[in-house]
Amino acid sequence: MSSVSGLRCRECGRTYPAEALHVCDFCFGPLEVSYDYDQIRATVTRERIESGPRTIWRYADLLPVDDPNPVDLGAGFTPLVRADRLAAELGLGELWIKDDTANPTGSFKDRVVSVALTKARQLGLKVAACASTGNLANSVAAHAARAGLESVVLIPSDLERAKVTMTAVYGGRVVAVDGTYDDVNRLCAELTSEHPDWAFVNVNVRTYYAEGSKTLAFETAEQLGWRAPDHVIVPIGSGSQLTKIAKGFAELAKVGLLDEVPEVRVSGAQAAGCAPVATAFAEGTDAIRPVKPSTIAKSLAIGNPADGWYALQTIRESGGSCAAVTDDEILDGIELLARTEGIFAETAGGVTIATLAKLAASGQVRSDECVVAMVTGHGLKTTEALFDRVGPTATIAPTLDAFDAAVDLGADGVRADVAAQRSDR
Ligand SMILES: *Cc1c(COP(=O)(O)O)cnc(C)c1O
Ligand SMILES: [Zn+2]
Repeated sequence: MSSVSGLRCRECGRTYPAEALHVCDFCFGPLEVSYDYDQIRATVTRERIESGPRTIWRYADLLPVDDPNPVDLGAGFTPLVRADRLAAELGLGELWIKDDTANPTGSFKDRVVSVALTKARQLGLKVAACASTGNLANSVAAHAARAGLESVVLIPSDLERAKVTMTAVYGGRVVAVDGTYDDVNRLCAELTSEHPDWAFVNVNVRTYYAEGSKTLAFETAEQLGWRAPDHVIVPIGSGSQLTKIAKGFAELAKVGLLDEVPEVRVSGAQAAGCAPVATAFAEGTDAIRPVKPSTIAKSLAIGNPADGWYALQTIRESGGSCAAVTDDEILDGIELLARTEGIFAETAGGVTIATLAKLAASGQVRSDECVVAMVTGHGLKTTEALFDRVGPTATIAPTLDAFDAAVDLGADGVRADVAAQRSDR
């Protein structure tokens, strides 16, 4: 039995039934799913979760849709990797990477789409649609294929090649729009009124979609041995993921899965070429000024973020911070994570790691904290960002002499950075 008690306006508090609604009729505020936490507390246990599937659906008790056969490609339960080598480079202590590159279509969007389309099917909506900065398109097209649904995804026409290919291959309709994501999103809002029986996952079923991001918090706590971290670093596009991660940790305490109410500092990461939230944070204002994005972190290139204000409040209330990093720093972040931990992230992951480095250097992320960095998308999606940076060490003739001339690992073959870290101990 579902524990959803309805939808509630985040602004005026009016309540609505759990249907395909996303804005309040009264004040146009966004709606949020509310739950009967007493009912959840009475059934949910750590054991019940641990015996569930190794996907987001092990947390079905805390998700807004009850369906024994969800639209599922296996999203979630991605590795939480202890990152000691990266921590040493950044002067940090207990550092973990939540490796969401391991999702079925290579990004955290699989979490939200699996929830959104499961709910959409239950609501009788017929077509899976979205406005996307790339990863959502990949995920909607794939999950629609899985569910046997027609899909229509709208993307800005300047997306990375891999993201277009990874969307089109599933056989749905892919419409490239000459404009920014914000233009695409506006068109999608208009289409939502034209096609009320389509599920625009980030428009008319956004309320349900957003809840999928809570699973990042649930998994992190479970994988830490039912313990919340002290600090999480989260990339910001629309800001939805960041707010829901905070909600997720709070819910775990509410339903008795954590022993105490966690105090998790939530920090936001943006690209300097699209940093409306980081700018408002730095200026100490509440007003988020929309920007025209210009950054290689296309998956985060939302100039007018729908949940930007809520993300800002979440960051401030939690005692977190927010910073923005340049395109060069993003590429440095991608290479640093790959070199130290063997994880290849897309540009959004570079934003997270570069922001982590910046906040560690300024003392806002501390070495006495348990820190988790959300690495939300796979590097294979944005390889062109690195074309000028990485390539063969050498191109040689097929001879031993040529090899020896090109490759010199030194006498003991131990990497210089690793040797330095060893001698520090
Ligand atoms: C969409 C996206 C984000 C941002 O999520 P929001 O909920 O829009 O803030 C972060 N990382 C990746 C890889 C994404 O695709
Ligand atoms: Zn309202």
